[in-house]
Amino acid sequence: MGLEVYINGEFFDRSDAKISVFDHGLLYGDGVFEGIRAYGGKVFRLKEHLKRLYESAMMIMLKIPLKIEELEQAVFATLQKNNLHDAYIRLIVTRGEGDLGLDMRLCHHPSIIIITDKIILYPDELYRKGIKIVTVSTRRNISEAVNPCAKSLNYLNNILAKIEAVNSNAHDALMLSVEGYVVECSGTNIFILKNGALLTPPAFLGVLEGITRNVIIYLAKEFGIGVQEEPFTRYQLYNCEECFLTGTAAEVMPVVEVDGRVIANGKPGEITRKLSRKFKSLTRREGASIYK
Ligand code: PMP
Repeated sequence: MGLEVYINGEFFDRSDAKISVFDHGLLYGDGVFEGIRAYGGKVFRLKEHLKRLYESAMMIMLKIPLKIEELEQAVFATLQKNNLHDAYIRLIVTRGEGDLGLDMRLCHHPSIIIITDKIILYPDELYRKGIKIVTVSTRRNISEAVNPCAKSLNYLNNILAKIEAVNSNAHDALMLSVEGYVVECSGTNIFILKNGALLTPPAFLGVLEGITRNVIIYLAKEFGIGVQEEPFTRYQLYNCEECFLTGTAAEVMPVVEVDGRVIANGKPGEITRKLSRKFKSLTRREGASIYK
């Protein structure tokens, strides 16, 4: 049996899983999504992901036609159908099919799509050695335009950044705010360790408030490591003691070089490794069982 994809309450084989070319998700990037992980048959922080999905939908005035509990069950059902215990889950809600034109009233039925599959973002070796990132010229969207808090299907801001990173042979792109503060990477949040405490850019600067970011803030506090959500510049980043990125797909990724500057001794830091281990063990322990 091949991969089964959930579309509006039905399952389709991967090759038959299709939506209309008139779907405004395709035509205009009009929709929202989530990237979620299941570990050992448990979906990690599912409630938090669903909350963000509904909040993103609220931002773009998209009414998700299922209750949050129904969507939760649909995620479990898709994992069960595919017999997947360790998986990456892509949950998408588009504006749905409608005639051409930006007016959202042209679309009457949002499309709900759930894809469950494997994801390998970086090879294991990079988790041991750390990655190199570069600052790109593409600035992170300003909150007054397409607010980065909403996880919308409009990812061109991030894709433009990623293109620059790929062109520079870097593993990822560091995006700054219009004022020049460090914001985040193309699909991950950023942390630095400075004077023994963690710093991460605050949500108002235009970051996607990552679920992994929030788990790391919680774990750091448990360890007695101070965490401050405040703006910082590349000067502080270049001179930090440790740096790492966080995300559902990437988990905790050490950064050892930024714009050609080697961070500390050029190896993943001790606190980074400790938080990464703690995060991994939490993903195995906590989560909503798919057989609920
Ligand atoms: N920033 C951006 C731009 C992202 O796309 C993601 C991935 N969803 C993140 C940060 C990390 O968020 P999370 O930890 O919720 O995956």
